[in-house]
Amino acid sequence: MSSIDIFPRLDRLGLELGAEERQIVASVRDFAQRRVAPGAAERDRTGAFPVEVLRECVELGLHAMKVPAESGGAGADDVTYALVMEAVAEACASTAVVLASSNLTAKVLDAHATAAQRERWLRPYAEGRLGPASFALTEPSCGTDASALRTRATLDGDAWVLDGEKMWITSATHAGLHLVFARTDEAGPRSAEGISAFVVEAGTPGLVVGREEDKMGQRASGTAAVSFDGCRVPAAALVGERGRGYAVALSALGAGRVGIAALSIGLAEAALAEGLAYGTQRRAFGQALTEFQNTQFVLADSRTELDAAWLLTLRAARLLGRGDRASAETSMAKLFASETCARVVDRMVQLHGGYGYSREYAVERIYRDARVTRIYEGTSEAQRIVIAREMLRA
Ligand SMILES: Cc1cc2nc3c(=O)[nH]c(=O)nc-3n(C[C@H](O)[C@H](O)[C@H](O)COP(=O)(O)OP(=O)(O)OC[C@H]3O[C@@H](n4cnc5c(N)ncnc54)[C@H](O)[C@@H]3O)c2cc1C
Repeated sequence: MSSIDIFPRLDRLGLELGAEERQIVASVRDFAQRRVAPGAAERDRTGAFPVEVLRECVELGLHAMKVPAESGGAGADDVTYALVMEAVAEACASTAVVLASSNLTAKVLDAHATAAQRERWLRPYAEGRLGPASFALTEPSCGTDASALRTRATLDGDAWVLDGEKMWITSATHAGLHLVFARTDEAGPRSAEGISAFVVEAGTPGLVVGREEDKMGQRASGTAAVSFDGCRVPAAALVGERGRGYAVALSALGAGRVGIAALSIGLAEAALAEGLAYGTQRRAFGQALTEFQNTQFVLADSRTELDAAWLLTLRAARLLGRGDRASAETSMAKLFASETCARVVDRMVQLHGGYGYSREYAVERIYRDARVTRIYEGTSEAQRIVIAREMLRA
């Protein structure tokens, strides 16, 4: 969908964007198609991190969208953030997920950092002096059950000493700072107790970033394990209250889910555009594929489900923007958008016939890029757990 096409669609989804938001969304869509999309296939082939593209994203403030302007960020709202994620993901999912994890970390720092921490880490990050940021929660032995994490942080004089290993950390290979969750105290009755959050700067002795994972899709997002071997950080690197780090992590997950819901929609919109273009020009039995009723039904189902995903995602973003509790709504958005993405992308590969299975066609990459949206930022099963829990709350 071009920049021009998006606004009538958004209007019909009931989204009344202000002039400033329209301007941001239009310029990001233009930037994404002009500067991000052209190298996406090559980055997928080589796995090269989008260093230059990210530099331009940083100039536009896309790495710190919800950080207020006084701290160097873009000061955007949740709806604008979702629209930006969607636009970038249409162009390149690897770049989008790097921005998603960076924005997640920036949001946590904005919400929980002290004034001194803001000056030391948030401002330089927001001003583009630190590169992307990573959000390091998952470990080799636990992902969904992240509260069972084993990385430890021990207080030694005026420093915390970290030991342990993180896994699947987006942007780890290029991040200038990592937000790391570690156990500082024995677990209480609930294993989430006793976890704390720390800022660890790239280059800190004892911080070792592993080899980049050889992934199915989103291959340019710098995913790697990160290990800590006697890694000393100053006492001032503790973010939020000691022992309350799990709550710190969860505080940003709603926004994270909306970001991945939007990313999923972006991938699906890109696939649908590819399918429409291909189906219109490819002929079989003397007619274009789009003249078969079966193709029309596939397109109609895809458009309908995608609009539903948009509506759920925009609702969740609006609720977050109002400061409402939105656990169920953000999970519904992420669940439905990522599952819809899978269905739409699969249908568009099918519409391409054998060509959909070839690396020469964008749908093949989109198909691989889409698969992980049902896994990271909480699996589809984890989202269902949240939704049901909210339904059953007394
Ligand atoms: C490309 C990529 C990038 C990532 N980026 C990051 C990142 O930047 N930072 C970060 O911290 N993590 C990141 N992750 C990790 C991601 O969040 C986890 O992989 C995800 O949460 C699932 O955890 P797991 O892999 O340990 O699977 P598990 O938790 O072992 O789950 C395995 C399966 O069991 C199911 N399951 C688990 N518990 C339940 C339950 N209670 N009920 C029903 N089913 C259940 C799951 O849904 C899943 O299907 C990334 C992962 C990938 C693949």
